[in-house]
Amino acid sequence: MNAAILRQLLKADPYAQVDDAAERQKLVVGNWKMHGSLALCREAIPALARSVSPEVQLVLCPPAPFLGEVARLAQGTAVQYSGQDVAEQQSGARTGEWSAGMLAELGCRYTLVGHSERRQHHYEDDALIAAKARACQDAGITPIVCIGESEAERERGETAQVLYNQLDWLMTTPLWRQAIVAYEPRWAIGTNHPATPELAQQTHALIRAYLAQTDAVAAAKIPLLYGGSVKADNAAGFMAMPDIDGVLVGGASLDTASFLEIYASAVLCGSEHRPVQQLAQLARMVA
Ligand code: PEP
Repeated sequence: MNAAILRQLLKADPYAQVDDAAERQKLVVGNWKMHGSLALCREAIPALARSVSPEVQLVLCPPAPFLGEVARLAQGTAVQYSGQDVAEQQSGARTGEWSAGMLAELGCRYTLVGHSERRQHHYEDDALIAAKARACQDAGITPIVCIGESEAERERGETAQVLYNQLDWLMTTPLWRQAIVAYEPRWAIGTNHPATPELAQQTHALIRAYLAQTDAVAAAKIPLLYGGSVKADNAAGFMAMPDIDGVLVGGASLDTASFLEIYASAVLCGSEHRPVQQLAQLARMVA
């Protein structure tokens, strides 16, 4: 990554960036993974619905068998719901799979794609994940594309290269500009060892700068989420960072009270303008 790209981001008027940051959609996404129950859906959705505010999207990713019930419970509320995964085809003889069109029919506006648990346990590679993102976009669903490095890759100093490869694959889909990218370092997922907000910010800025090499305007507008051991007591630190537009929460989203605390900190942070920190951060990277 080089200074020229960041200068391009800053352009002649650095405050243009601040406006882009203010415009970016803020999201708090809860991934239940293979946890939860119908009872939890019936407890959580009404409680979440009472707290959703327009500035920050609240998106729940329950296991697929619960999506119909979640859709029913969320009807008429601002709670959004999402798949945890999707097939790369729109239909066909694919037992056990579901398509983006089916998610759209249920009222999903989003789905996760390329979660590290899919990459690890289901051997999904970047080509497949890009195909899934494309399928989402064909069906009018916004993919939340998860990327991130392993602990070994980080220790070998390969973080940037790993992320760039994953982003290159994503950018084979021209509609990447309408995607959401979730940076989830694998070593932070489910470990109780989150990245520090500063490290997460640095990596998000790197991601944004890399995307800017292809399209600086789109890069300034794309929402970037942080995921990995986000809890009620650390969420605000991430949300306060200028290039972090939201969080992807696993374990803590199963506890409705904790998830609501995380959501509340996003609403508080999301309403601030932070021109000084933002410019200072970019300036540090250019130096
Ligand atoms: C996740 O499921 O994407 C995740 C980040 O999990 P956790 O918050 O439990 O680390």
